[in-house]
Amino acid sequence: MPDKLTCEQRHRCMASIRGKDTKPEMIVRRWLHGRGFRYRVNVKGLPGTPDIVLRKYRTAIFIHGCFWHGHEGCRYFVLPKSNTGFWTAKIERNRERDLERRAQLKRMGWHTIVIWECQLKPKVKERTLAELEHLLHKTYIDNLRPRKAAVYSFDTEPTLRAAEEQVEYERAAYGCNDNDNDDEFTIHNPI
Ligand SMILES: [Zn+2]
Repeated sequence: MPDKLTCEQRHRCMASIRGKDTKPEMIVRRWLHGRGFRYRVNVKGLPGTPDIVLRKYRTAIFIHGCFWHGHEGCRYFVLPKSNTGFWTAKIERNRERDLERRAQLKRMGWHTIVIWECQLKPKVKERTLAELEHLLHKTYIDNLRPRKAAVYSFDTEPTLRAAEEQVEYERAAYGCNDNDNDDEFTIHNPI
């Protein structure tokens, strides 16, 4: 029996079965590509296998399903009426894992952006993507500051603490008044 699918069709079929190239992700990827951003997808070499990685911007993007990742206050995050305890625990674990992965990436010097699936619905999509573009440009400019240089110069330093303090000093010296969360972004749309 000959295989009726072309190689590419089969690849797409398998990709959809594996849960990759899901629609919300494709919205962001197509848009980024159209705006001239270049990126890699499903990057296994980084914590949490980020959905989209823009190396030039040192930014990892996660596109989260509102249910599985527990989007607080979102109308798409409704716990099932049966087995509620099971689902609560499961989603809480997912949330904790997401936070830990973002923290790991931050320690590695990566910015992270979370886009929720509900923020890519037709009515709010344009706004979300405009905000994403703004964040990426802001991040690129922030990266031009020499604030990470001190970390690289301490490669034989016995304690990381000293290097971290040096970075803080460098940042202060350049008039940067960012808070601790400056490497993590969540796009806030009205839900
Ligand atoms: Zn949501």
